[in-house]
Amino acid sequence: MTLTLEYTPLNDIPKIVESARSNFRNHRTQSLEFRKEQLRALLRLLKENEGELVDAIKADLNRSKDTEVSGCIEACEYYINNLEELTQNRKAKGFKESDDCFIRLSPLGTILVIGTWNYPVGLVLQPLAGVLAAGNNCVIKPSEVSENTAKVLTRLLRKYMDPEVVYIINGAVEESSLMLKQRFDHIFYTGGAQVAKIVMEAAAKHLTPVTLELGGKCPVIITEHADLAKAAQTIAGWKVANCGQICLTADYVLCPKHLQEELIKQVIDTWTHMFGKDIKACESYPRIINRRQHERLQKVLQSVQSQNKIVFGGNSDVDSLFVEPTIVTNVSLKDDIMQSEIFGPILPIVTCENLDTAIDIVNSIEHPLALYIFTDKREQIDRVLTETRSGSVTANDLGSQYFNPNLPFGGVGQSGMGNYHGKYSVDTFSHHRSVFLRNVHRL
Ligand code: NAD
Repeated sequence: MTLTLEYTPLNDIPKIVESARSNFRNHRTQSLEFRKEQLRALLRLLKENEGELVDAIKADLNRSKDTEVSGCIEACEYYINNLEELTQNRKAKGFKESDDCFIRLSPLGTILVIGTWNYPVGLVLQPLAGVLAAGNNCVIKPSEVSENTAKVLTRLLRKYMDPEVVYIINGAVEESSLMLKQRFDHIFYTGGAQVAKIVMEAAAKHLTPVTLELGGKCPVIITEHADLAKAAQTIAGWKVANCGQICLTADYVLCPKHLQEELIKQVIDTWTHMFGKDIKACESYPRIINRRQHERLQKVLQSVQSQNKIVFGGNSDVDSLFVEPTIVTNVSLKDDIMQSEIFGPILPIVTCENLDTAIDIVNSIEHPLALYIFTDKREQIDRVLTETRSGSVTANDLGSQYFNPNLPFGGVGQSGMGNYHGKYSVDTFSHHRSVFLRNVHRL
């Protein structure tokens, strides 16, 4: 299944945004009942069309196991069930007994949500749920790269959602550039840092605040106190999930030299167990999104191949967008593979003497979106928390922080600014308005 995505005519783009902004001023989106109605509509969209959405994701990424639709369903249910509590006024102390002071969460207005292709449903509908819960309306720009999903999303959002609440713009650079010239009340962008700079520059022209959900090189520190089997299985699973095209997957491993051999063996065993010996022939093994990304990864492979650093894998095939799970050793920080986020199923292992060296290496690279450590020693985790920076830290697992709605999800420095999920989305998409009432009596 490959569908051609219809781009929004350029002439329509300013009108769409103006219409969204003017409809927001009707105040319809503000009542909690209306917000719940829209969240229920989004929930119906997801539940009634889960199969079609999963098929579209499979057509784009050959991913058979889905977590994004179910993640969005959970987000909608969470907001429907907790909306009163999440949005209620937050009491503040006044100066006198009679002062009534509180913080009111006011909707910001029209929010632009720009999605990317690696989780093409979740990265637009999960923010959308938060946008609706906070009482805003929304312009959605799905990624044109995952065009099958963009096409299905466009049709379903038009069918299920109030047309004055959810607007869609489709297109590539030309359409996106014109869209970014328009004025929004907040821009929520997920994607790479290069485009994030363009988004931020465009936002600055209108003094529009932005949330940037970016990527980076997420390290996994393995210590001598790690459960090595658990670490190997977890890393192996995450490195091939979505073919490594996940912002918070393990980018590289930091490991004591004496544990490296056993780690490699267990990672390979896990992959063989998952896909058999002939991984290319395995239909459930996911693929790289397109030729452009494949060529980028081929360059990474060529560079480590020329240095004889591949100890497992290394094969690729552009026609079937296949990249074999690959392990690279003897890696130095100067190697090409350590210069930018890999975003593919290639795992470099950097050996280091101890936790001090591991921390030094982490600190020599831009702050990552996530940092992982395998150890059962709390004091080692405390050192990492004190001596490094990252969007999140997870010990003895990968990715769990993303799925917990009680934790904010976002980066720091080059891995992003701002955050969302659960109550944090409502906070992000609301203005925290200070209200000070003196000598006012309720009727
Ligand atoms: P991208 O930055 O190329 O595209 C993302 C969006 O930006 C798309 O909707 C695209 O149409 C739009 N876009 C592209 N060029 C544009 C331009 N010149 N002007 C305006 N808009 C433009 O996506 P990518 O870099 O391939 O995405 C991968 C990156 O996203 C990785 O770095 C990954 O780590 C990151 N990511 C982060 C998260 C997160 O939640 N933090 C999630 C997924 C991916």
